[in-house]
Amino acid sequence: MATDRPTWTQPGIGTALARAFRRRCPRCGGGDVFDTWIRLKDDCPTCALHFERVDGYWLGSMVINLAVTQVLLLGTLIGLLVATWPDVPWTAVLMAVVAIAVVIPLLMHPLSRLLWVAGERHFHLRAHPDATD
Ligand SMILES: [Zn+2]
Repeated sequence: MATDRPTWTQPGIGTALARAFRRRCPRCGGGDVFDTWIRLKDDCPTCALHFERVDGYWLGSMVINLAVTQVLLLGTLIGLLVATWPDVPWTAVLMAVVAIAVVIPLLMHPLSRLLWVAGERHFHLRAHPDATD
């Protein structure tokens, strides 16, 4: 039975990641995939891709978010220590790393979800080329 819905092919990983960085659906490039700035819709309004494939799916996006936050936190801490040693302004360093630990995960949340969708779909479809979604 034929449907009127177009079929979507998975783009290359570079295209999918670029779309994710632009807050667009990694599969079709369609916009408006967020209900709010931070909340991803359940499905893409353009291609109907269901973003959360299984329970626990977002664990990968949490790992991306945590890794980016940790790298920025450690880089900032080391950079401030090296730049100000031996007279380290400890209060300012503490405020900087706490701010990073709180703000970066919030800013990264929507991006890390779309990056995870892009990467997971790429590797899933490479491992299972006959998968339809
Ligand atoms: Zn889409």
